[in-house]
Amino acid sequence: MRISIVGTGYVGLVSGVGLAEVGHDVICVDVDQAKVDLINKGVPTIYELGLEELLTKNVGTRLTATTDLRSAILSTELTLIAVGTPFNGEQIDLTYVREAARQIGEVLADKDGYHTVVVKSTVVPGTTADVVLPTLEAASGKHAGADFGVGMNPEFLAEGAAVVDFTSPDRIVVGGIDDRSRDALAGLYASFTHATVVRTDTTTAEMIKYAANSLLATMISFSNEIGNLCAAVGVDSVEALAGVHLDKRLSPMAADGSRVSPGFLSFLAAGCGFGGSCFPKDVRALIAFGHAYGSPMPVLDAVIATNERQPARMLELLRRRVPELDGARVAVLGMAFKPGTDDIRESPSLPVTHALLDAGAVVSAYDPIARSMAEPVFDGEVRFEDTLEDAISGVDAILVMTRWQHFERLPELMRETGSSAAVIDGRRLIPKTAVEHYEGIGL
Ligand code: NAD
Repeated sequence: MRISIVGTGYVGLVSGVGLAEVGHDVICVDVDQAKVDLINKGVPTIYELGLEELLTKNVGTRLTATTDLRSAILSTELTLIAVGTPFNGEQIDLTYVREAARQIGEVLADKDGYHTVVVKSTVVPGTTADVVLPTLEAASGKHAGADFGVGMNPEFLAEGAAVVDFTSPDRIVVGGIDDRSRDALAGLYASFTHATVVRTDTTTAEMIKYAANSLLATMISFSNEIGNLCAAVGVDSVEALAGVHLDKRLSPMAADGSRVSPGFLSFLAAGCGFGGSCFPKDVRALIAFGHAYGSPMPVLDAVIATNERQPARMLELLRRRVPELDGARVAVLGMAFKPGTDDIRESPSLPVTHALLDAGAVVSAYDPIARSMAEPVFDGEVRFEDTLEDAISGVDAILVMTRWQHFERLPELMRETGSSAAVIDGRRLIPKTAVEHYEGIGL
């Protein structure tokens, strides 16, 4: 199929590359000329394992990027909208979605033949039917269903594993206003034969995405609440939650007694809080949406409240070992909100680092991938180092903020360099007895 993708960020680029790889002709559209130029040169604008390889393989043949939305719509049969949907403090901000729909609609006015427009951005239930569809109709002067199709296809890729998640999906939600729209959308994924396909209306498709993200965020805050209680009563949450994981409904048992250990269990672990461009904003947007419908969401209110308190726990643990932070030298390991990505949006590392600076600490930082994203945030106040060794050299304390595998060698490195710095482990990555002075979340 010939498809266009409006918005070439994390989701748009990974989707574009993934769909080109399975044989579609893809035009990625973005308003950012610099992004478009890099993509056309085969340079990924974000870090994801495997992305560069697939991009260089497909760019110039099955994948091109452009700022020219009009020509992209005119020369394709289906368009995915993958623009950002931030939370504006009160509710989901649909500015970019509305604008993309308006621009697409204006082109549809001049286009002969049927075209399908699919929302891939995460939008609150009802948005495709009540905002995108009328915007397309108003801008095109045409009728949804008769002249063009409208679909909703939420994206479930997780940053850090985005390429694998996109190319080997567990489910494909095909939401549409009618069968013709759903058939067109399903055609995109015809070669993804292993995934379960859910055919539904657009509003259910939107709800599935929010319910899925809210469940995972809830598991994290639940674990953090248990972890904080464990710490208060002198129990190690790693041990306690490992016992919980053995419930056969969480880790099913094979006939020989061996266990299947689902990825889901990684959400049932205490840590310094969730971040990223999805969970915080999506949970907040769903809470606001619930209130607007007269359906309060106290569980999700608590999910956010618990998550917002978690970064401060890192400072509390640090003060146990280094009571006076003014002038203390502290290394922050990890700026990305999770390993495998350069995304720092809403990363707990940001409030923790700002709090350290406010307290007068001298902060060095290291992240194997996210440095270029994080460095500008601190305006020269944080010394970003090229290596883990340099970041921890001469410091009083080390904060482990991101679960980068790379940091597992910290105890060995500290032994080699004779460092006796306190390690404050926000991800429970380091064995608690592997360093002399250790504090861990949920311990
Ligand atoms: P992003 O901010 O990385 O990218 C959005 C892109 O859209 C930007 O490059 C921006 O320049 C471009 N854009 C905005 N308006 C445009 C327009 N009118 N025409 C062309 N380009 C335009 O966002 P993202 O992280 O890719 O997220 C996109 C959507 O997907 C959001 O709704 C998000 O919630 C959802 N989502 C994200 C992830 C994730 O892991 N990042 C996963 C699943 C779903």
